[in-house]
Order: sequence, then structure tokens, then C-alpha cells
Amino acid sequence: PQPPEPAADYEHIGVVLRLRPLLRWERREGFREAVAKYADAALQVDGPQPKLCRCDKAFDGDTGQREFFRDSGVVPLIDSSFEGFRSTAFAYGQTGAGKTYTMVGGDDALGGLVQSRRGRRRRAETPGTDEDDGLLPRALAHVFARVDALRRKQKTRVRMTCLEIYRDVVTDMLAPESAQNRPALKIREHASHGFFVEGLRACDGTSAAQCAGVLGKALACRRVGAHKLNARSSRSHCVVTLYVDSEPKNGGRTTYGSVSFVDLAGSERLKETGSGRDKRMLADAGHINKSLYTLGKVIRGLERLARDPSTAPRVPYRDSALTKLLISSLGGSSKTLMVGCCASSDKAIPETLRTVDFAARVR
Ligand code: ADP
Ligand code: MG
Repeated sequence: PQPPEPAADYEHIGVVLRLRPLLRWERREGFREAVAKYADAALQVDGPQPKLCRCDKAFDGDTGQREFFRDSGVVPLIDSSFEGFRSTAFAYGQTGAGKTYTMVGGDDALGGLVQSRRGRRRRAETPGTDEDDGLLPRALAHVFARVDALRRKQKTRVRMTCLEIYRDVVTDMLAPESAQNRPALKIREHASHGFFVEGLRACDGTSAAQCAGVLGKALACRRVGAHKLNARSSRSHCVVTLYVDSEPKNGGRTTYGSVSFVDLAGSERLKETGSGRDKRMLADAGHINKSLYTLGKVIRGLERLARDPSTAPRVPYRDSALTKLLISSLGGSSKTLMVGCCASSDKAIPETLRTVDFAARVR
């Protein structure tokens, strides 16, 4: 294949592809590595005809979590929340491709046990300091470091919400009830503030460690099932939002910004995850396909609108709960980061091609 052209300048969306290395069990089963980083902004997928997949930045399986946080383009999203912008980072890809690893981190991230320098296991005290910590714990550390750095200039209030969307129904992951007993929450529309989830709890953030503790508990119920294929966690979207209110001490205007981290439902086709006779799963797959499809259409529509407002593309954000809730942090001056997570094995090629295709279409 020809080397790719340099990444075009994009308006609002950054699209990066991240490969995860072959896992131990995949090596044991004799899976082959079939996807590789080709250039700074392209992956190559093996096949009868090797395919080059362009993006804004490509990350190979050796890319550590710290490097990914630094170079993926997520930091400007976080920083812009201090200036009143609302942004969103998504992780997209099939189940097992590394979405949760990217967003949250290894199994021990967010209050779990980490390896100390002496090799002993201890509770993580400072989020974002363990190598396995993903974007969220690092974002928390970054946000509160910035709150501190700006302390003399402004009063900053940080709040956090955490919700799950399963079959287009929203539940509050910070609710005290156990995961199965949480009530379905309604999405309402406010004339000037747009869509909001009625009754969603927001936790006041006082430090990175406190937020990480709350989040760790909220996400624990998802992660328990994460290893069982087809567990609910792989069929629901999880949205964590950090709200940042900045009140300048010189009497200037207070700004209200936010940054959302979305661990999307697995994008795999139904036939590859199990039996089509199972009605529950069919219904799940229907909801997932529709909401991911809608998400793609909304992002594409917004990008076209940004490039040429006269085209007036259809932006069907009312078609899914996910896009209703995120529309205010996708359009306009929002920044968006799409992380396409790709498994590198030959067995995953069809799904990986679908993931890079999605990435190419929203770019
Ligand atoms: P998903 O959330 O997309 O279903 P996970 O994030 O749970 O996938 O990843 C599946 C497995 O692969 C987990 O055991 C995870 O720790 C591992 N993994 C994912 N990405 C990486 C990576 N970049 N480096 C090392 N291990 C990874
Ligand atoms: Mg996951």
C-alpha cells in the first residue's frame, strides 16, 4: 500500500486508533498478530489485500497508558472544560478490544490494588500514578492539579456524574440501590439547557482520590461481569462526566464546562457473540446497533455542518438516548475525541475492519 497522506486538519473531532497487544490466551490459542501500526497516522490490517486505515494518530500495542493520555489529544478536551467548553471522549470497538482498559485502566485501576515499587500490593492512593491507570484516573489527577494551580485566580467547582445506558434506558451508577434495582431515569428537555436526566445524582468532587473512590465503587458492578462474554457491561454504554464550574476571582463571568468519557457498548455483530435464537440478546444487539449507528450519523452530520453550514445535514440526535444526552457536548465549539480500539489478532480482522471503518466515517 501507498503511505498515507498527512492527517487533514479537522475541525472538532480527533480520531485515533489504538491497538491492543495479543493477550496471553490468544497466543496460547495460536492467534496471529494481523494488525500493526503503519505510520504515525495509519494502521495496516493484514488480509489477502492489506488495508491501510488512516486516522489522526495511531497507537500500537506497546503504547503505555501514560503515553496514551499525553498524546491521544484528550488533555485539550479536559483543559477546555475550564474555559466553559463541553467535550466528549469515546472508546469504540468490539468487546475485548480495550475500551475499558483505555477509559478506566487495568483491572486494579480506581481504588483497586496496585503493584508498589517494592513489589507488594497496596491500595492506589493517588489516581493516575499507576502505569495501568487509564484516561479517567489520569483525567481526575489532571483536573485537580489544575484546580490547585488556578486556585489564586479562580474558584473551581468540580462535580461528577456516572450513568449507564442499557437498551436506551438510563440508570444512575451513583445511586445507592444495587445495580439490578436502580430505577430507570427519564430524559427531559429544557427549553434553554437542552436535555438532562431527571434525578441523576452528581457527586461533589473534592480531590482526585475522593472522585476515584466514588467512581471505583460505581464501576465495580460493571467490571465484575466484564470477563464473561456478553455480560451486560459489554452491551451498555457508560458515561462519566466531570463538570467544571470556573468562577474568576476578579469578578469575571463564571463558565460552566464539562468533559465526558464514554465507554461504548461492544460494536461486534451479533453472530459473533452467540446464538441468534436468544431473544434478549437480539434485542440488545438491536439497541446497540441503532445507538452506535445514530452516534456515527450525528457526528458525521455535525462535522459536515461545521465545514459547510449551507449543507444543512440531518443530525438525528433524537434517535437515541446517548446522542440526546451528548448533543450539547458534540456540536458547536465542543471538542470530540473518538478512540477506535482494535484487537490485533487475525481472528478479530472482520471486527477490526468495521471499527476502522467507523473511525474513517466519522473523521
Ligand atoms: P473492552 O472493554 O473493549 O471489552 P477490555 O478493556 O476489557 O476490552 O480489554 C480486554 C482485555 O485486554 C483486558 O484483560 C485488558 O486488560 C486487556 N487490554 C486491553 N487493552 C490493552 C492494552 N493496550 N495493553 C495491554 N492489555 C490490554
Ligand atoms: Mg469493557
